[in-house]
Amino acid sequence: MEKPIIMAVDDEPSVLAAVARDLRRRYSGDYLILRAASGAKALEELRERKLAGASVALLVVDQRMPDMTGVEMLREALTLFPDAKRVLLTAYADTNAAISAINEVHLDQYLMKPWDPPEELLYPVLDDLLDDWRAGYMPVFEGIRVIGHRWSVEGHRVRDFLARNLVPYRWLDIENDAEAGELRRLASAEDAPLPIVVLRDGTTLSQPTLAELGDKIGLHTAPIGDTYDLIVVGTGPSGLAAAVYGASEGLRTLLVEREAPGGQAGTSSRIENYLGFPVGLSGADLARRSMSQASRFGAEILSPTEATKLETRDGYHILTLTDGTAVAAQAHIVATGVSYRLLEVPGAERLTGAGLFYGAAITEALAIKDQDVFVVGGGNSAGQAALYLANFAHSVTILVRGKGLAETMSHYLVERIESTPNLTLLTGASIKELHGEESLEAISVADASSGAVKRLPARAVFVFIGAAPRTQWLSGILQLDPQGYLLAGQDLARDERGRIPGWPLARDPFWLETSVPGVFAAGDVRHSSVKRIASAVGEGAMAVTFVHKYLGALALAALPGR
Ligand SMILES: Cc1cc2nc3c(=O)[nH]c(=O)nc-3n(C[C@H](O)[C@H](O)[C@H](O)COP(=O)(O)OP(=O)(O)OC[C@H]3O[C@@H](n4cnc5c(N)ncnc54)[C@H](O)[C@@H]3O)c2cc1C
Repeated sequence: MEKPIIMAVDDEPSVLAAVARDLRRRYSGDYLILRAASGAKALEELRERKLAGASVALLVVDQRMPDMTGVEMLREALTLFPDAKRVLLTAYADTNAAISAINEVHLDQYLMKPWDPPEELLYPVLDDLLDDWRAGYMPVFEGIRVIGHRWSVEGHRVRDFLARNLVPYRWLDIENDAEAGELRRLASAEDAPLPIVVLRDGTTLSQPTLAELGDKIGLHTAPIGDTYDLIVVGTGPSGLAAAVYGASEGLRTLLVEREAPGGQAGTSSRIENYLGFPVGLSGADLARRSMSQASRFGAEILSPTEATKLETRDGYHILTLTDGTAVAAQAHIVATGVSYRLLEVPGAERLTGAGLFYGAAITEALAIKDQDVFVVGGGNSAGQAALYLANFAHSVTILVRGKGLAETMSHYLVERIESTPNLTLLTGASIKELHGEESLEAISVADASSGAVKRLPARAVFVFIGAAPRTQWLSGILQLDPQGYLLAGQDLARDERGRIPGWPLARDPFWLETSVPGVFAAGDVRHSSVKRIASAVGEGAMAVTFVHKYLGALALAALPGR
């Protein structure tokens, strides 16, 4: 198979030669390095390569070129290779152009010339971008293929699972893709129910359960040991941070995740307010980076495996997993976050995954190409999803019950929504019913002021109407607030004598400690937590500090003569 392309574009021959030389030195083993002496020549070459089915990984383009600026060239290139990483070469005076290009052409980085030595100033940046690109790159005939109906619930479930577990796959639509029928025939699976997953070695799975699929594609679902120093439940930002700090500080750490790494943040198309990433990063990137960091420090990660029960015996907290396996540790961190609130209207249950989606904007983006779609909700997650979907859909309509977005959405998102031509805001609007037999066809929307109900054609509805903790499995074991959030530290309820019911120790609970000593709560699942990635990461890291204090006190108490 032909190597993916890295292209350098600059009108100054000496600079172009130097850029191409630096690129060749490091990347020519894995990539084909091309160069073009103008924006127009570069686009001509890219069009030809597109026809030939090539993949473009990276474009490194000078901003100052006479016939066409770098930003103008990248804008055109975006339509040909939307997934290629984009780097602008700038002089100091072009910094403003580069910053506005971050939004305009989804610029991934800008680099100031010159960059000597490249080992310090060029390669780390490009390595990072190429790693990201590789993570989403699907070579045509390698990897997993999924055959199914575009709007089927089961198909969506499988695709979402693979995407969120960062497993590259190729989707083949049985109705529109001739290769889908051919592959199904070749796999002798013509009568097998869809979706069918064709694995790398050619074996097929028909309508697999997620656990079965996870097992077959090599996800780790059963623990190696039965006792750990620390068990963390949930691999959202807070659980992953806890694992990184726990494992890097010498604790034998087990991480348990019921769905896929990244938690809610993993479903975000673009996180723009996380410290240290000025051009933003996708939730999938954040999840992938954090997972490799946690693994590098030695944390063991189980996914998909659900924690179903927690009990305390002989100083150990024992966690039961979906398949009945029990794992024990003296310290646990519950970082199970929150899950989307469901839309409770007629048709919603039936059409979930078949046109109605909860926060699954990324997986469905290509399926809604050129369609009219709706986003329900006025928070930041709805705004991010709407902007992302607008890159693919014919039109995106945001439905909000209130009068506008100003009070519920960050200002930078509102501004961007207002300037996106195929995005419309419908205020005072709520969905009353979803219509469609096999898949979503239309929605009934009520207008709050007139009470009138309109039926609008709709191919997809993405719902972001808040979230709630799923802590039923901890009810009666840990103190919960009326909404099900975990109470910890100062928030724990006390009786009239100022005591926390069931608390066995003389000391007060640590700040993130729940009503059971040694069990900590971190991130969105905690009562009164700030619902932000940075806060979740902070709490995950902080919980580990308390774990050390807790384990230190246990070790001290166990010393002879104590
Ligand atoms: C679409 C979207 C976009 C967002 N964008 C931003 C943003 O740009 N900036 C920002 O600061 N915040 C953003 N947020 C909010 C941010 O993602 C959350 O505050 C953050 O993810 C909370 O992290 P957490 O680790 O506490 O929980 P979560 O991210 O909710 O993760 C919890 C994890 O625990 C797992 N789990 C739950 N129960 C169990 C169980 N019983 N057993 C095993 N595993 C379990 C879940 O599957 C999940 O993976 C966004 C949220 C969404 C939904």
